[in-house]
Amino acid sequence: MTLHFDNKFSKALPADALLTNDTRLVTGACFSYVTPREPAQPLLVHASEEVAALLGISTQDLSSASFLEFVSGKKIWPETKPYAMNYAGHQFGHWAGQLGDGRAIVLGEIVHNHHSWMVQLKGAGQTPYSRRADGLAVLRSSIREHLCSEAMYHLGVPTTRSLALVETGDLVLRDILYNGKSAYEKGAVVCRVAPTFIRFGNFELLAAQNDIKNLTALADFTIAHHFPYIQSSGKDKYLDFFKEVTSKTLEVMVAWQRVGFVHGVMNTDNMSILGLTIDYGPYGWLEDYNPDWTPNTTDSEHKRYRFGNQPYIALWNLYQLANALYPLIREAAPMETILEGYKTDYEKDYEAMMKRKIGLFENENNDALMLQSLEELLQATETDMTLFFRLLGTVLKESSREEAFQQITEAFYNGQGLNHSVKESFYEWFDWYLVRLRKERQSDFERKVAMDAINPKYVLRNYMAQLAIEDAEKGIFDTIIELHTVLKKPYEEQPEFEKWFAKRPEWARHKVGCSM
Ligand code: AMP
Ligand code: MG
Ligand code: MG
Repeated sequence: MTLHFDNKFSKALPADALLTNDTRLVTGACFSYVTPREPAQPLLVHASEEVAALLGISTQDLSSASFLEFVSGKKIWPETKPYAMNYAGHQFGHWAGQLGDGRAIVLGEIVHNHHSWMVQLKGAGQTPYSRRADGLAVLRSSIREHLCSEAMYHLGVPTTRSLALVETGDLVLRDILYNGKSAYEKGAVVCRVAPTFIRFGNFELLAAQNDIKNLTALADFTIAHHFPYIQSSGKDKYLDFFKEVTSKTLEVMVAWQRVGFVHGVMNTDNMSILGLTIDYGPYGWLEDYNPDWTPNTTDSEHKRYRFGNQPYIALWNLYQLANALYPLIREAAPMETILEGYKTDYEKDYEAMMKRKIGLFENENNDALMLQSLEELLQATETDMTLFFRLLGTVLKESSREEAFQQITEAFYNGQGLNHSVKESFYEWFDWYLVRLRKERQSDFERKVAMDAINPKYVLRNYMAQLAIEDAEKGIFDTIIELHTVLKKPYEEQPEFEKWFAKRPEWARHKVGCSM
């Protein structure tokens, strides 16, 4: 297996002068060199051929010993020197100071086909940023990250990728949230890949340290390598950069709302500067269409990171990034204009996206009202988001309201006992919708094709990941392989996988994922 490294981040930016993994505050540096922990007995659970291909790793290489040594951190390639990145962040709305990669270690940056990729191990031991934690990850949360990042990629949502999932052969002590007791669990490492893992928090750290020299260096590096089309200079360059980050952030928010993804921990240290979905922890998928839902049990009181709040939290986070970049721009008004623009652009883009989800491709006066009334209706009774939008594509223009309603009843969790007035409200909505559909130029078939391309049939429901986890704990990896396969084509009909196009089973109602 031949890998080509350029390691441009660590070459261009200042390193921590100390060379130990001990916890500390790090100033004057964007990262610290660290030694990954050697796994006791690494076992490859699953690898993605597609992500491997991005790095120039062939399918045959995936079963080689050197691949396993690479993705488990057992052997460090001579051309590279692993490091943990230094960043800060606002957590749950409060300044948290230095955080950094407490359990992530960048192995290096690989160049292939003129693209450069940061390759990072998550769960490979302590770093100077681990604080009181162990730097490790357990199998269950690693399966969730590996499967979900690939599922998101295939859904067309900007995201970090996952190359491989490895069991380390080590045991990791965790407080299992289900019964409140500590227990040892199987340790694992995920090898994740992205053009960069730079976060809003990397800029916040340097601004808070008043380290303007390195703040400038980090911004210049990020622009030169990740926004090379920005050609302006002086403060305009940083303004253009902020504007680009704002629009990429907006784009990923619209994508999350489209597929029903709830991140769960939108702290500024979990906000990618490239607008990628990053850090799959207690995330969840909306089943019941409830904007107030969050999968994060530690956020159940304020529900700061609930589904419906995500786009506004992203804006709040952009304000923190604006503050961090202010020393490079020193003029608030143009930054405020960009932030104000996010609000109006989001409303516009969200509405356009939702219209496409219900198959409206032309513009009529009351479209926004129709959408609003649908969103209210979907909350009036427990309705499965994925099923509803997918099934809506099968409604025919010339059908009656009863026939249209029949097409989507499978989406109700309580179909049998559906309240009479809810049913009446749906009928009224369909009366309105069917009249509107008849104004669309597209045929029923064309509209269904267009709707199917944005309304996924298969998403990684929380219980699906749970089933993969339960099997993997017993050493059976077939469910991981099956889910990875089905989620590669989330918009396509896959009759052999029809069982995954179904509502969450009742046993899984209150089960959510866990990130530790
Ligand atoms: P998260 O909420 O997962 O984004 O994590 C917030 C911070 O805690 C980051 O700095 C992580 O690196 C750190 N962290 C989370 N889990 C661990 C762990 N098991 N060991 C060390 N650091 C951790
Ligand atoms: Mg994080
Ligand atoms: Mg995390």
